[in-house]
Amino acid sequence: MRTLIFARRIGATVTLLSASALPSAGGHPVKMPNVGVVVRNLSTAPPELVQKAEAACQQIYGAAGIRLTWINTVKDVNWEGPDLILRAVILPQAPPSRALAAFGTALRERQELLLYQDRIVRFSKIVDLPTHLILSVAMVHEMGHLLLDSDDHAPSGIMRAEWNQDDLNAIRRGQSHFTSGQIRRMKANIEQRGSAMVR
Ligand SMILES: [Zn+2]
Repeated sequence: MRTLIFARRIGATVTLLSASALPSAGGHPVKMPNVGVVVRNLSTAPPELVQKAEAACQQIYGAAGIRLTWINTVKDVNWEGPDLILRAVILPQAPPSRALAAFGTALRERQELLLYQDRIVRFSKIVDLPTHLILSVAMVHEMGHLLLDSDDHAPSGIMRAEWNQDDLNAIRRGQSHFTSGQIRRMKANIEQRGSAMVR
């Protein structure tokens, strides 16, 4: 019991300190937009590989000032807290209708992204890059479509339709990134949809 009270006091002190230490906008502490991602792995991809891909994906979004929080589960979860929730499903195989080069699909109306393990594994062998890295950039790209609220592709960077050798080198070195314009748009969309969810 005493421990609990002590913990509460510590908690209150910490909150007070961090609130006054942070720059504030309109009286509220500035915080990074937080996107929750529920990942349903229906493929044979090992959980460790998926988590490594998530960590690499998170680095790219973190560099853009967007925080990602992950839940790995095959169950349906009700999750409150993040500004926005996206769902990612890793399927063993791409549906036959999908273009041969596609690693995934972004279903914008459902806020869901599909990732195709067979395509990701095959591509990682062709370009000689670790599978978790290809899975991570596939996640980054398809989530980008959802957060940008657009199916469009960019002439350069992670949102290109096809990756050339320069893009692959950037992926290999962990230097893939979004443009400042894309980052602005994603943050504005998260803010807009987050406040729509609260109402
Ligand atoms: Zn795309």
